[in-house]
Amino acid sequence: MKEIPVEKIIRSRRRTIALEVTPDATLVVRAPLKSSAAYIEEIIRRKSSWIQKKFDEINLRPFFPNHEYTEGELFFFLGRSYPLVIVENGRRAIERSDRLYVSSDVRPDIRNHLKRWYREEAKKEIQARCMWFSMKTGHIPATINITDAKHRWGSCTHRGGVNFSWRLIQAPPEIVDYVVVHELVHIGQPDHSKKFWTKVGKIMPDYQQRRNWLRENGHLLNI
Ligand SMILES: [Zn+2]
Repeated sequence: MKEIPVEKIIRSRRRTIALEVTPDATLVVRAPLKSSAAYIEEIIRRKSSWIQKKFDEINLRPFFPNHEYTEGELFFFLGRSYPLVIVENGRRAIERSDRLYVSSDVRPDIRNHLKRWYREEAKKEIQARCMWFSMKTGHIPATINITDAKHRWGSCTHRGGVNFSWRLIQAPPEIVDYVVVHELVHIGQPDHSKKFWTKVGKIMPDYQQRRNWLRENGHLLNI
């Protein structure tokens, strides 16, 4: 069974455990004050097929591009916007300088070429940032993968590898760094416990602001 990441455990004076899968594909657990972690885990395990089904529903939700890939449309890269410019038979399919130059010969399929380009750029940028924050967190990831995840910016594997969605590279650098730190800290602390957030806070005291930014603006990071 795949590991189910628990985003938050909310304890209150309730009698039963309730599970909620939020629209951004995270699991929130509401539990009585005294229920043990082992008991909560057991409930999650029992409900795992229902949870997985909910996650799948969210991930299969159509993801409408808000672009028509015409000149002047804005595309984001590390938080800066670049107007798209079509060049006749450009040297490369996609090239970024002050603008985002797209060669006319990829025109019927601009979105896919852009996606590929974002993926490559994400790999370079995120790898470099992982290396830098490895020193700060003390965790060197076993692998760094770029995924096509639509609703999860990053994740951490059982084997100490980290994954990031290529979409993240559209966000400002400080937001990318937050997700990198979040996943690297997960290598040593796989849950979202107080201990986890304390570790994140030590490296990045303003992580809450960055996290909020992603919550509020994440849906805009779409090509
Ligand atoms: Zn996490």
